[in-house]
Amino acid sequence: MSADKHGTFLASVNSYYDSAAQHTGLNQGLLDQIKSCNSVYQVNFPVKINGKVKVIEAYRAQHSHHRNPTKGGIRYSMHVNQDEVVALATLMSYKCAIVDVPFGGAKGGVKINPWEYSENELEKITRRYTTELVRRKFIGPAIDVPAPDYGTGSREMAWIYDTYRAFHPEDINAAGCVTGKPVNQNGVRGRTEATGRGCYYGIRQALNTPKLMKKLGMTVGTAGKRIVVQGLGNVGSHTAMISQDEGDMVIVGVSEVEGAIYKKDGIDIHDLLKFRKEHGSILNYPGAESFGKDQRRIVMEFDCDVLIPAALENQITEKNAEKIQAKIIGEAANGPVTAGAAKILAQRGVMVIPDIYLNAGGVTVSYFEWLKNLSHMRFGRLEKRFDEANNRRIIDQIEKLTGKSVDERDRNMIVRGADEVDLVRSGLEETMISSFDQLYEVYERKRKVEDLRSAAFVTAISKIANDYISLGIWP
Ligand code: GLU
Repeated sequence: MSADKHGTFLASVNSYYDSAAQHTGLNQGLLDQIKSCNSVYQVNFPVKINGKVKVIEAYRAQHSHHRNPTKGGIRYSMHVNQDEVVALATLMSYKCAIVDVPFGGAKGGVKINPWEYSENELEKITRRYTTELVRRKFIGPAIDVPAPDYGTGSREMAWIYDTYRAFHPEDINAAGCVTGKPVNQNGVRGRTEATGRGCYYGIRQALNTPKLMKKLGMTVGTAGKRIVVQGLGNVGSHTAMISQDEGDMVIVGVSEVEGAIYKKDGIDIHDLLKFRKEHGSILNYPGAESFGKDQRRIVMEFDCDVLIPAALENQITEKNAEKIQAKIIGEAANGPVTAGAAKILAQRGVMVIPDIYLNAGGVTVSYFEWLKNLSHMRFGRLEKRFDEANNRRIIDQIEKLTGKSVDERDRNMIVRGADEVDLVRSGLEETMISSFDQLYEVYERKRKVEDLRSAAFVTAISKIANDYISLGIWP
């Protein structure tokens, strides 16, 4: 990837910011402060791999300290560079503000191809990177709390937690130093699927907004809507599974590193994931048209209702924006649409549901995990049995008063108290629905706010500005 292209991502984010900032009426000094990245730590550290020393380049950017701790994932990828990490940290600040998660934004990156290393080597790299963060006080439950991102998952988070804890044995809140941990190591149930589930709730809410559907010439509701998903990583696969299983949506196209497939009458996502596991590729999936690695970008041009880029940034550019057939683009990834492409899409009447709202489900559930870690207790532990006893009493009374009995299956469903995963999903659903309605209201109310992204930026900037103003240093 050229240096130019990296520059484009941060430039895109800042250009979205600048055009939204005009609608806020805030003073320039405050706007400049909100926009700028507060701190970036870059480190090169040695790791011995196969008897040879390899120097690894890594970053952690903390975009905004208006709220603490700062929060955001850690990415392992060969595309990692300072501009990218800063752009991603910037998006995190706005994302947290939009969904009312009380954190500043951050992001980390380690410049490696994680698929080239063994598990032991990855552990070494992760622990060493964490040690560098500890040394510089760039990690801690009250300072900066990493999470998974592209190329990392719960395994890496467990190593980070363990390393931090070794340095801070006295910290009773040590588990809150990182989120996305395995459930048996102080993680929260429902975190792995959270970003994908949040994307589904966000897309569903857009599709359930009659005014918006009318504008796009679409029918209301998710059932039967045709979707295309780019990337079957954690976010893409969960978005696809939940959209199919809970929304009755039809997956007509999918792409991965090896290529793209299209099947007009629908691909069963569970079957496709099984197929890929067995064959190491989605290509030649029975009944689907296959496009090899070099043609995989054609996925963006497939005929569908909702296109869901769920991989990396800069995927929809001025080069392919004209060819997109979807009516809605759901940005499950961070920064998949460049600012230049966004203009073309807006002119063509394609609605983009922006990343800083749509993929905020991950950090929302990370917030729940962090709260769980600080409270040292599983969600639902206090009230589950109490609720069940209460519900049982209500059903008993209904049966007594009506002289009829409730069916056994229904009774069990009504009586059941909430488990942790039920509460996490409920909190996530509420967050995604209410945040969408908030953005949509700004979009409808402010005539000059041209699209949902602009509404999202205006909302984020105003909320962060309020935090700064309450500090008393801004006019
Ligand atoms: N990496 C995810 C994101 O981009 C999650 C961040 C978090 O949970 O802190 O939103």
